[in-house]
Amino acid sequence: KRKIAVLTSGGDSAGMNAAVRAVVRAGIARGCDVFAVYEGYQGLVDGGNLIKKMSWNDVRGFLEVGGTSIGTARCMPFKQRPGRLQAAENLVNRGIDSIVVCGGDGSLTGADVFRSEWPGLLDELLANKRITEEQHNSHRYLTIVGLVGSIDNDMSSTDITIGAYTSLARICESVDSIASTAISHSRAFVVEVMGRHCGWLALMAAISTGADFVFLPEKPPSDDDWQTAMCDRLTRRRALGKRNTLVIVAEGALDKNLNPIKPEHIKDILADRMGLDTRVTTLGHVQRGGSPVAYDRYLATVQGVEAVEAVLHATPETPSPMIGMSQNKVTWRPLMKAVELTHAVATAIGNKDFDKATELRDSEFKL
Ligand code: ADP
Repeated sequence: KRKIAVLTSGGDSAGMNAAVRAVVRAGIARGCDVFAVYEGYQGLVDGGNLIKKMSWNDVRGFLEVGGTSIGTARCMPFKQRPGRLQAAENLVNRGIDSIVVCGGDGSLTGADVFRSEWPGLLDELLANKRITEEQHNSHRYLTIVGLVGSIDNDMSSTDITIGAYTSLARICESVDSIASTAISHSRAFVVEVMGRHCGWLALMAAISTGADFVFLPEKPPSDDDWQTAMCDRLTRRRALGKRNTLVIVAEGALDKNLNPIKPEHIKDILADRMGLDTRVTTLGHVQRGGSPVAYDRYLATVQGVEAVEAVLHATPETPSPMIGMSQNKVTWRPLMKAVELTHAVATAIGNKDFDKATELRDSEFKL
């Protein structure tokens, strides 16, 4: 009988609860015991009542609730080997042999590190007499399955991450509200949206709200004098009768010289050069989403069920899978490769090597 632990880790995203619900219920339906680990990796390290066996009814009502009801945390001890050793001991003591982690690239990196240290951690626990020979023998293999929960949609090897569409929906609702007041007063608004180093949220929001201009991390403006080019475009639109001006700035946006673009700077340009009454809105944490949109509930549910299948099909030889989505089909891709590719893309963007980043992103579609 497989004993599966499910946890949510890193930044919260809408749909994490639906993922936990799906893992718990699919696990029970397939004859497994399922444990919820509260507070992300901190719960693994601390153990005690932070690791709780779940029943079918424990996840009732989880589908429509935003964030994660089993808690999440940034856990420093898990980044160090002694913390992971403690986590291993807690798992073994409960007979748990598999973990489903729902989190972003940091959390999935941590999961990958943990599995790579298995069974070394086990050997160390035995050598220190923290577990018995029998426990050591029955836990030779640890199965890890990754589910990607992130509003940023910045993970490689999947088209979409759990929570991204909810965040996008909230951004669009907020921008629509801003548009009403902007039209009334004939104002300009500069709206900053989240996404860290990934422009997905900003680009999708710009298309979905009909923004006049968008600044992204991956595609800095190409004109030498991009300020004038931007103002010319906005002026043309105003001349056509548009009463509001909307500029979206991704949190990680860069200018022509690859310096960060800040909304206040854009505001000054619009006010000084165009004489527009301009306001800045930083949407902040409303973007984390609240109640998930239907797509995130669906995505988390089908992927949670798939995660349990992946646990049941895992062999000692197969690499840990990450459950993703490609062309509307649920996929299993090696977690380690997805993590490596995500880091390589982030490094390329960090080095301002956008061609390389694009090449790396496209490479996964050539498999
Ligand atoms: P996200 O999963 O949203 O990207 P973080 O990057 O904060 O969030 O990662 C969440 C947690 O995952 C960290 O607090 C830490 O416990 C664990 N983690 C992240 N990176 C590593 C790593 N390299 N090794 C071990 N654990 C890690």
